[in-house]
Formats: sequence, structure tokens, C-alpha cells
Amino acid sequence: MTSLPLIPAISDAPAARRASMPPKHLADLDLAGRQALVTELGEPAFRAKQVSNHYFGRLVRDPQAMTDLPAATRERLSEQLMPTLLTPVRELACDDGATRKALWRLHDGALVESVLMGYPDRVTVCISSQAGCGMACPFCATGQAGLTRNLSTAEIVDQAVYMAGVAASGAVVGSPPRLSRVVFMGMGEPLANYNRVIGAIRRLVSPAPEGLGLSQRHITVSTVGLVPAIRRLASEDLSVTLALSLHAPDDDLRDELVPVNQRWKVAEVLDAAWDYAARTGRRVSIEYAMIKDVNDQPWRADLLGRLLAGKLTHVNLIPLNPTPGSRWDASPKPVEREFVRRLRDAGVSTTVRDTRGREIDGACGQLAAAEDNDTFTDRAGEAPA
Ligand code: SAH
Repeated sequence: MTSLPLIPAISDAPAARRASMPPKHLADLDLAGRQALVTELGEPAFRAKQVSNHYFGRLVRDPQAMTDLPAATRERLSEQLMPTLLTPVRELACDDGATRKALWRLHDGALVESVLMGYPDRVTVCISSQAGCGMACPFCATGQAGLTRNLSTAEIVDQAVYMAGVAASGAVVGSPPRLSRVVFMGMGEPLANYNRVIGAIRRLVSPAPEGLGLSQRHITVSTVGLVPAIRRLASEDLSVTLALSLHAPDDDLRDELVPVNQRWKVAEVLDAAWDYAARTGRRVSIEYAMIKDVNDQPWRADLLGRLLAGKLTHVNLIPLNPTPGSRWDASPKPVEREFVRRLRDAGVSTTVRDTRGREIDGACGQLAAAEDNDTFTDRAGEAPA
């Protein structure tokens, strides 16, 4: 094999080190850290709780709106505790407002995206953990663009707080007004930005005013399969849901589709996934993009079924979403149905994911954070999936 992509750099890629991290924000710190900081600034410690209540409890991101604070305090705390991290560039909506994508500019000009999805019983936000991604999966628009930098904990959390505010405003018609789930399935490889992502998860699950108060099992971390980081995650006191982007049951093909497989093979990554399931009691999601004539053959379904049978797992098949310049197509529906049938026959719980957000380039693998809107216009005529 000569055309395999290079193994991508993992967490301390030079690009990630050179890029400029944002100023500190209250969401980078736990409550004790915020109390220490406000005291250092000459404010009484209770201000930390007061500001946290606004931010995590009432989803107020603009310090100027915190009118119960004296004006001078507001100024000081807004600079030191609540610098602007995300500047909106564009927001797109489809599905009558039930799906929304926000494009953000960060303090150094880097761009990231977040996607909100409303359902009758829940509201889910898909957030980014890095600007770009270094994992180089050839079918993913984010992977094609490369890594710009890691996001800070607060840059990750602020996406969820913003979208929780959108839900609370009642803008997601037909859905409950409370954000219920967060999935790390936006731009980036969360486990390559490990410490900041763990910090963000802690903020998301701590009860208000320390954090957003979401349930651990309603947080999903999706990974290409960085085995040491999966093992480390299993040893945290967090039972979040793990999703593994497998996409092929055999090393030959997975080496190409998910280049990090050249380092950690299918058997190793599945071992780590089963250990994660055993330690947390949580079912691991296996993500599998259905790519026509690439990974959708009946024999691959059978092989996948044999690897997964009897395990605490669930397969999410994702119809391949179009990305610019991609040479691949989604599998035809009959092929997809046969794949599902074979997996279920093997006793493996399997569903096909909806293609939410496709027409706003907000579906899996489409987040490229480009400022021009061409792909949106190009696709506007496509029937919603
Ligand atoms: N880097 C992490 C988080 C991204 S999650 C990971 O890979 O798991 C995004 C999910 O969408 C991953 O499962 C990814 O493999 C999948 N994906 C990427 N490009 C896609 C495409 N064009 N169509 C369908 N799914 C895609």
C-alpha cells in the first residue's frame, strides 16, 4: 500500500502549540478557582457565586446584563472573568428552526462551529473541541482542513451555554426549553485535547452555579480511537457515553479511512472500548459511516457483527454526508438495509442516524467553518434528508 495518509500528529502538534490560546474565563475554573480569582481582584468571594449563577444558572453571557452587580465590579469582572470568547459570524437554521448551526470566530481569528438539534423530547448540542482537526480522515471535511489549535475549556463550554440560552428562549419550537444533551461530535478530536475537554465535561455536569448541571450519561465523547486516552477516560470519575468512530471492521480499510488506525489497530481499540463499557456500565456507540462500495459490503457487516456480538454496544450507521471534493458517495438504501439486517441477525443493536443539518452543512463530517456561504447556496435545493 503506497497511498496511505500519514499518521496524524496527536495532542502536542506544533500547530497546536504555536496558536494563541484565549484569555482566561470563569468557565475555565471550578467554583473554588473562581473564588480565589475574584478575591485576588479585590472583590468579596461571594461574587464568584453571583456571576456563576448568571452564567450557568440563567445563561447570561454578557456581563453588562448582570445589573445586580455594581458598575465598577461589572467592568472589572467582565474583563478578568468573562472576556468575549465566541463572536458570532453566522447562524443558519433548517427544519423550521429545529436544527441550527452557529459559526464562531475566536479571539485569534480561528473559526469553529456548533450545531443545535431539537427533538420532541430533548435538545442536543454538538460542540467543537478543536479548531480544525489533525486526524485526517479522508471522508470528513474537518479532517481535510487540518488542525488550527485546541480550544480552551471555556471556549468549549461557552458553545453549550450559548445554545442552552437559545433553547431557553423558546426558539426551538416543538422541543423542551432545556438543553439536555451535549455531544463532542463537532470539529476536532476531543481526546487529543484531553485535559481541556475533561475540564469542559466537569463544567457541563457540575450542578449550577458551578456548572450547567447536565447528567453525565447525557454527554457523549466521540473519538477516532486514541487508545491511551480512552483508557485514561475510563479511570476518571465520569461515566459519560463513549462513541467510537470505527467505520471499518478490518485494519486494511480502517488504516485508510481513519489513519490513526495505523497506530492503534481495530482489535486494540475495541479492547479499550469494552474495558470502558465494563468500568462505566455504559454502552459504547460504534459510529460507522456508510460509504458506497467502500465499507458497506455484506461480508464487512458480518465481520463487524462477529466483532461486536455479545458486547455492551450499539451501532449507529451514518449515511455518508457530502463533503467538498469527496470522491465517495453514500451507500444506496437497499445496501444500508441489508447491512442493518446482518448486524441485527448477529444480535447487535443497530440504528441509522438521521442526517440532520445536511442542507446547512451541519451534519456529521461537514463542519468546515468556512466564512463563505457557497456550499449552503449550492445545497439549498437539495431535499432535506
Ligand atoms: N473526531 C471525533 C469527533 C468527531 S464526531 C470522531 O471522529 O469521532 C463526527 C462523526 O462524524 C465521526 O464519527 C466521523 O467519523 C463522522 N463523519 C465524518 N465525516 C463524515 C461524513 N462525511 N459523513 C458521515 N459521517 C461523517
